[in-house]
Amino acid sequence: MKKLEEYVRSIPDFPEPGIIFRDVTSILQDADGLKLAVDSMQALLEDTDADVIVGTESRGFIFGAPIAYNLHKPLVLVRKKGKLPCETVEKSYDLEYGSATIEMHKDSIKPGQKVVIVDDLIATGGTIEAAAKLVEELGGTVVKVIFLMELEGLKGRERLKGYDVESVIKYQ
Ligand code: IMP
Repeated sequence: MKKLEEYVRSIPDFPEPGIIFRDVTSILQDADGLKLAVDSMQALLEDTDADVIVGTESRGFIFGAPIAYNLHKPLVLVRKKGKLPCETVEKSYDLEYGSATIEMHKDSIKPGQKVVIVDDLIATGGTIEAAAKLVEELGGTVVKVIFLMELEGLKGRERLKGYDVESVIKYQ
């Protein structure tokens, strides 16, 4: 059986010169790749006691949903601003150019709940830092943050210091 790394297509100079883009679609479009990715991420939670799985838009949904389903836990969505219909809390964070705002429904996390945050990839860590702050604003505790891929050179892990961060595949 192929290793998970072998399913990842790397595209040089996308979306800009100098960036090597790690493509998740090449994993998803292979049944073995998808299963291996979900199983490998879920294995990172073996010793974690969680009440809620949080997935961040959009590729965090792809992995968060099957993990929540398999563990029989609720799935909560962190979405880009303007997509959630009920009362929300929101957080803005800096991007390389400009900024972005994410939201969660106010009633999605109950105070005291233990939360695992799931995303496909950590680069600078800005997205997940903002998501973790939203979870905490709602009274939740972030017990673990998991990624399929980690771009170690961008030092997102340092930005998330204080959180228990784990990833399946690490790139320099
Ligand atoms: P961060 O907030 O800088 O950690 O950026 C993480 C977000 O950017 C993730 O949600 C990814 O989906 C996206 N991203 C950044 N670089 C890549 C890449 O090389 N491949 C796929 N997604 C990426």
